[in-house]
Amino acid sequence: MKTLRLLLGDQLNSQHSWFDEVNPDVVYVMAEMRQETDYVKHHIQKVVAFFISMRNFSEELIKRGHQVIYYKISDVNNPQNLEQLILDLVEKNKIEQFEYQLPDEYRLDEQLKNICEKLSIPTKAVDSEHFYTSRNELAVFFKGKKQLLMESFYRMMRKKNDVLMVGDQPLDGKWNFDHNNRNQYKNEVPIPFPLEFHKNVSELVAEIEAKNITIFGSIDKENFNWPTSRNESLQLIDYFCKHLLEHFGAYQDSLFSEHKFLFHSRLSFAMNSKMIRPKEVVDTVISYYYQNQETIELAQVEGFVRQIIGWREYVRGIYWKEMPNYAQMNTLENYNPLPEFFWTGKTKMKCMQHSISQSLSEAYAHHIQRLMVIGNFSLLTQLHPDEVDAWYLGVYIDAIEWVEMPNTRGMSQYADGGIVATKPYVSSGSYINKMSNYCGSCHYKVKDKLGEKACPFNSLYWHFLDEKKQHFANNQRMSMMLALLRKMKPEELAATKKKAISILEDMENL
Ligand code: FAD
Ligand code: SF4
Repeated sequence: MKTLRLLLGDQLNSQHSWFDEVNPDVVYVMAEMRQETDYVKHHIQKVVAFFISMRNFSEELIKRGHQVIYYKISDVNNPQNLEQLILDLVEKNKIEQFEYQLPDEYRLDEQLKNICEKLSIPTKAVDSEHFYTSRNELAVFFKGKKQLLMESFYRMMRKKNDVLMVGDQPLDGKWNFDHNNRNQYKNEVPIPFPLEFHKNVSELVAEIEAKNITIFGSIDKENFNWPTSRNESLQLIDYFCKHLLEHFGAYQDSLFSEHKFLFHSRLSFAMNSKMIRPKEVVDTVISYYYQNQETIELAQVEGFVRQIIGWREYVRGIYWKEMPNYAQMNTLENYNPLPEFFWTGKTKMKCMQHSISQSLSEAYAHHIQRLMVIGNFSLLTQLHPDEVDAWYLGVYIDAIEWVEMPNTRGMSQYADGGIVATKPYVSSGSYINKMSNYCGSCHYKVKDKLGEKACPFNSLYWHFLDEKKQHFANNQRMSMMLALLRKMKPEELAATKKKAISILEDMENL
């Protein structure tokens, strides 16, 4: 039966069972489409990374003997949207069956279901064979539970997949080494130079520019360093094991202005585009650990494994459990617009200037920059979660809605009212000062709450707590912070709030 199989840009899994054998009756279709470049304003590196990886993937399939129809963004006959693409191909090629892999985004899931309804041939959706869990496994696991605690999900995942386990107990008797993993980096050990691939992507950038796609951020066209093939992705895991794993956990929460990637793996794009599977990453890291126990501690490995079998699978499960309502949630009723410096990095706040500038130059910031600097500022200034979401979705190389949204709207902005986070991730300047070297060279004074040069995070923090205290009245984890708020002298609170309001009224000048 003549079959058309669709491959989306984030379905680059060359190990998928679809490709086990070459079938002359099967033709694959891949397309770089305006539909995908235009649903939000994207960083140029994100568009380039997806298109190059898709082109490499299609070449690999062709080399393996598969038939592939590929539309480049610049092709004149490119329909630029999924429905037109599939309906046309089915008709022109007398296709008798249409198949696709289950997409990870709600919008594409809906669109594909609609397309299938319009087709008069049999259609079939298959698993993408990427994740550890199915779409609704988390929902089933937490059925009837009030709190969807990541830690319980993570323990179930460790047991179920026999990851770092001895029988039904965690290796070395501990599930979680988080408290070992909260160091500030102070040059104790050298940070290895990141693995770079130095690819020339000038032609593709010219193609994108010629299509007038709205993009932002910068790119070094002659030295593109993100992995864009399976082979490069495997090199990145290997590099991570040999050079970064040893100190990954210890410094995973550190903020450091002299280095962009610290000991982070930079594997998120390779995984989210499915060039490598999470199980391959986890198995490789654990096997490296077992062979190198004299240099690698369990705490480093557990810290890494938790991000992948824990957080990554967890946020995906939350996404499918809560969508489509999740995308509308704004529990804290925040409505402020995003300040202009999110697009330029031009602010006197060193922490924000560094984290945003790096996001704009690299399409990357690590977890704590996303959560405790940019996310923290966004929540304290009560920015609209729609605007925050759109910025995060556009700027990061690894941002695909299923993983971006629960992290941004949920974990970082508490807009879901505590589905993901048990308390809002907010702090005054002192947390940033403890975890970074930003404050020493900042225009603002981290210890000051009032005065022209006072660190904005300080007054904003107390103002936020005061403004939103009703929302947290029954939250045990907020009781200490709210008790401190209550103990504040009325005149001190009034002055602090006055300062915060003046900041909120003039955010562009921070
Ligand atoms: P490492 O620090 O080396 O971690 C290893 C891997 O663990 C990552 O590659 C990633 O796959 C996984 N991981 C770690 N934390 C998380 C998490 N919270 N959720 C899901 N996976 C995780 N990650 C994305 O992949 N896409 C996003 O759009 C995204 N948006 C985020 C937005 C906010 C506000 C926050 C706080 C976090 C976000 N994250 C997102 C999670 C995390 O910041 C990135 O996965 C990580 O920074 C990617 O860099 P890395 O590969 O060097 O990660
Ligand atoms: Fe950020 Fe405040 Fe520190 Fe400046 S002083 S870097 S604004 S936390």
